[in-house]
Amino acid sequence: MSSHSNRHQMVQKIANTQHQLEQIDFKHLPLKDLFGCNVFNEQVQRERLPKSVFKALQRTIKQGAPIDPAMADSIASAMKDWAIEKGATHFTHLFQPMTGLTAEKHDSFLQMEGPCQGVVEFSGKELVRGEPDASSFPSGGIRATFEARGYTAWDPTSPAYILESPNGATLVVPTVFLSWTGDTLDKKTPLLKSMEVLSHQALRILRLFGNKESKKVFTTVGPEQEYFLIDRAFYMARPDLIHTGRTLMGAPSPKGQEMEDQYFGHIPERIIACMADCEANLYKLGVPVKTRHNEVAPAQYEIAPIFEDSNLATDHQNLTMEVMRKTAPKYGLMCLLHEKPFAGINGSGKHNNWSMSTDQGENLLNPGDTPHDNAQFLVFCVAVIRAVAKYPELLRVSVSGAANDHRLGANEAPPAIMSIFLGDQLQDIMDQLEKGQPKSTIQGGFMEIGVSVLPKLPRDAGDRNRTSPFAFTGNKFEFRAVGSSQSVSGPNTVLNTIVAESIDFIATDLEKAVKGGKDLNKAIQDLLAGILKESKKVLFNGDGYCEEWHKEAEKRGLPNLRTTIEALPIITRKDSVDLFTKYKVYTEKELVSRYKILCENYVKTVNIEGKTAVMMAKTMILPAAIRYQGQIAEAVNATKAAGVDNTAQVGFLKCLTGSINDLQKTTGDLEKALGEHPHGDELAHATHSRDHVLAGIFKLRAAADTLETKVADDLWPLPTYREMLFIK
Ligand code: ADP
Ligand code: MG
Repeated sequence: MSSHSNRHQMVQKIANTQHQLEQIDFKHLPLKDLFGCNVFNEQVQRERLPKSVFKALQRTIKQGAPIDPAMADSIASAMKDWAIEKGATHFTHLFQPMTGLTAEKHDSFLQMEGPCQGVVEFSGKELVRGEPDASSFPSGGIRATFEARGYTAWDPTSPAYILESPNGATLVVPTVFLSWTGDTLDKKTPLLKSMEVLSHQALRILRLFGNKESKKVFTTVGPEQEYFLIDRAFYMARPDLIHTGRTLMGAPSPKGQEMEDQYFGHIPERIIACMADCEANLYKLGVPVKTRHNEVAPAQYEIAPIFEDSNLATDHQNLTMEVMRKTAPKYGLMCLLHEKPFAGINGSGKHNNWSMSTDQGENLLNPGDTPHDNAQFLVFCVAVIRAVAKYPELLRVSVSGAANDHRLGANEAPPAIMSIFLGDQLQDIMDQLEKGQPKSTIQGGFMEIGVSVLPKLPRDAGDRNRTSPFAFTGNKFEFRAVGSSQSVSGPNTVLNTIVAESIDFIATDLEKAVKGGKDLNKAIQDLLAGILKESKKVLFNGDGYCEEWHKEAEKRGLPNLRTTIEALPIITRKDSVDLFTKYKVYTEKELVSRYKILCENYVKTVNIEGKTAVMMAKTMILPAAIRYQGQIAEAVNATKAAGVDNTAQVGFLKCLTGSINDLQKTTGDLEKALGEHPHGDELAHATHSRDHVLAGIFKLRAAADTLETKVADDLWPLPTYREMLFIK
């Protein structure tokens, strides 16, 4: 059977497969019963814990009070009983190693009381601390492999939950992960530390404004997840998708996203069935997913939750990605979370909506109706502006990685230049503030729709902007540079820390002024005006894609770190080390380890792509092209023998042969680049990967894509863009 028939048969099979779409019955499992049913949440805690233990645990969760270890046994025992009623046989400490994924090792509740005499137990000790043999996780030099000891420690602020699987269920306890020496080995610990730092600093401002009640300030996050869903049969026939998450070759489809008919379009049946199944599973886990829609690119979609505190939002975001990956195959689909699975059409991001809130629920970035006289809002808002202006490179590096470079460094939204969009209303107030006391707020008013039966529509005071990497959107900032496959932990750790530093700076100045007898409002005005003068270079309300902005940004002195290689050295630069060590979010050793891990990760990612591209070129593309070349050559000989004018066929044979030569040449070059091992440190290796391996992949791709437009469709071995993106 020739390869062509395989591919065409695959399409036939997809067309004829009836998927079992109705798998969830919301009539019998209504949303309100489903939501949180597998979470050891506040309600379950209240029902199952002794009153004093319940109260103490809630104080830890809501106000950050330290947890009393003596309560652990009682909590563990209640958790175990609850979990076993839900069908759990095992428990696991879930942690977030620096691979960016989550890791888990399961233990059963079984304990032996005597020979053949088993009981189920879960002690406080087991809840509080685990010791996975963790020597194979990246530590960036923090631990040698022979020093394998690593601990997981219970995070009581993120509730435990039950993860159901086909045969049984597991009690999952969210934990942090650290080495025997106490160094942080995960992504959760720094995030928690950065949240505490910000809370501490923000409370200083609130106290100046007379707020004595708030005990904690939370950062809040609502991450919008973009992703692709394609038929699983296509995925399985693409080694590049399997091994690298993106297509390393593939000529553009004749129809792409230019008709703009996908965005917010009708959601196909199979897709919506899969979405609803994901949502049902996420509801059970207490993940408050809220919106779903078609995104800009064909086969691209989005899911977004209601925001939560950053720690919980991050855990829930990790769960969301896991549930999406797991659910798609039930509907014959595959969920692609890579930042750029398909060249030439939009990639996927994860818009990180971010704000700060008191434990009483006051959103500190809510401008109210008249922001110009909302001094507290102005203080917090200017603190964010100052932070982004002062540390744009740290924000950039927090979203770096080989995959996200295909979005940020390329001509796609958002650009790698970090700037802030404020919108007309807030920009106007900041302009006033820079010059003196702001006096007015531009109001949106009402829109006349012009149809008398329709109500008047309130108009927002400013338009939206889709190209800015960091946009104010009503009562929060939206950091849009985060990549779709990335954990939101790193970006939020950076964001919290740099904003905490700004708030610290402002609070220190204001406290001193007030102590010296200065009027608070006057002190605020003087201070903020000065900050804005220095920081306004980062404010930009125009089109972030266009060439003029790149030039303008350069004039303003804004950094443009196009690729991960330029961004990574920022991690260990003196000002970064000073910042993170001052606030005890990372030690210098931890920063160095992260730098090393990210360099290595870049090299590995690009090398896997390189090897996959070579393998596909040699064993799939070249054989198809040569088969076709043979067919043409035969035809040329036959026509010549028949005495027919075959100039055009000879020309085509030459042209095809030229393209085959290109493929072989670029494949050889890429193989050579993969074989070279440059001298120097990890950054030198990563630079080599970018400049020679990745560059080689692009060249090989160009040759392969040219061949795809020439070789007979029935010989082409790979599912095409046209098929993967449009056959649903
Ligand atoms: P859009 O960005 O399309 O206007 P929304 O306003 O609904 O959409 O918000 C998008 C995301 O921002 C949602 O996940 C939402 O929960 C989140 N969000 C809203 N308010 C806040 C906030 N104060 N802090 C963090 N995230 C927020
Ligand atoms: Mg949004």
